[in-house]
Amino acid sequence: MAVVGAGLAGVTTAYELAALGCSVQVFERGGSVAEQSTFASSALLSPWLPGLTGAAAPAPLAWRWRRWRANRQGRDASAALFELSRLGLARAAELRRALGLDDESTSGLLVGLVDAKRLAAAQALLQRWQTLGLAVELLGPQQAREREPGLSDQAALVGALALPGGGTGNPRLFAQQLRHQAQRLGAGFRFHTTVRAIAADGADLTLRHEHTPPTSAATRSAESEPGDTLPQALGPQDERFDAVVLCNGLDALALIGPRRSGLVLAAHHEASVTVPLRLLEAHPELGPKAGWIDPSRGLAIARTGQRVRVNGGLAITGSKARRMPDFETLHRGLQHWFPGSVLHQQVQQGQSRRAVCPDGLPLVGSSKPGLWLNLSPGGCGWGLACGAAQVLAQQVAGGEPALDIAALAPQRLA
Ligand SMILES: Cc1cc2nc3c(=O)[nH]c(=O)nc-3n(C[C@H](O)[C@H](O)[C@H](O)COP(=O)(O)OP(=O)(O)OC[C@H]3O[C@@H](n4cnc5c(N)ncnc54)[C@H](O)[C@@H]3O)c2cc1C
Repeated sequence: MAVVGAGLAGVTTAYELAALGCSVQVFERGGSVAEQSTFASSALLSPWLPGLTGAAAPAPLAWRWRRWRANRQGRDASAALFELSRLGLARAAELRRALGLDDESTSGLLVGLVDAKRLAAAQALLQRWQTLGLAVELLGPQQAREREPGLSDQAALVGALALPGGGTGNPRLFAQQLRHQAQRLGAGFRFHTTVRAIAADGADLTLRHEHTPPTSAATRSAESEPGDTLPQALGPQDERFDAVVLCNGLDALALIGPRRSGLVLAAHHEASVTVPLRLLEAHPELGPKAGWIDPSRGLAIARTGQRVRVNGGLAITGSKARRMPDFETLHRGLQHWFPGSVLHQQVQQGQSRRAVCPDGLPLVGSSKPGLWLNLSPGGCGWGLACGAAQVLAQQVAGGEPALDIAALAPQRLA
């Protein structure tokens, strides 16, 4: 089996396939795992809750039209997504426990409600979540401040939702450690190797890949992990596989051919700021304890180890377009909720993009015989990745999948 891409989706898929006894080869054009979306993640491990969506990100008219049409025509996949999210969180917890993964995890994820309108909307959804068996708690402002004592007294807050099973962590560390476990089970990782094309020939798929080392010595030493990259032949190489799983986000469509598949993806842009926490013995409550979401400002604030990460400023563009990040809003949002909690040295600012489908749901399933997709767009990519990888690996290996996720297969959009 070949897996294309070594972000969280690729690493979890490789691990699950190897755990089922498959022979697995992962192709990654970067020098290590988790260098793109996974690196940029807001670091929230969150359940997917039907109805809990923020304001739709600004997007070009053509995309808004596709979004409207997909949501109007699409099958209701929320039951499958809900079950997949539940399985994904349980699988992530099981992997952490059974394999001893340490990714600076914390437990607790609150969604701040800043006005009466948002509180009423949350109250209206509580019953629905409880019917689904989701123990979402509605906290008063005082209870929210007890769970997150670093929250500012000055910030208007009428309540908060506590999401069951939610928390924070470092998805890059999670992916790096899981990769070693996959290697222990026999999975191979080829870094600096770009997959150029996939051709179907009867039951076999031929993968055309090429060794693409970084051009400058500085990049080479910063990105490459010693011992990972075996000597490689120059120029494109062809290799046959029984199955190929595409876990390469926005770049997947270039390999399956958007015209033939009928699929379209856009880029969801987000800016992030990572800052060291101010550690004062006299004020242990400074900063977030775990995860805090502010839908009114479109912000996610997460504690990872002794740092705080803030993500936000969403916008959708075509898959190639760029966008100017707005870091100032993120700094202001952090100061609003957790004043004085961070040091303004060693600030890391970044901008990243993730793939998004018109209906905002993941693409998990077979696109044609032997060719599988595991693209988990959206804000719950980590929470879904472990479940999607497990179900997909069972399907690819010809076993009985733990869940029926046919509603998330690419055919719904073709
Ligand atoms: C800004 C941001 C914030 C996010 N916040 C959260 C969050 O808080 N919680 C959450 O659950 N999810 C979040 N997500 C989503 C989550 O990070 C992803 O869904 C998850 O990490 C899975 O990523 P991935 O493996 O699909 O993609 P990536 O991590 O991008 O991996 C794809 C890999 O494919 C490789 N690749 C591409 N093309 C080729 C090719 N042709 N040949 C070889 N290799 C190739 C790339 O180099 C890359 O390493 C966020 C994403 C972003 C961008």
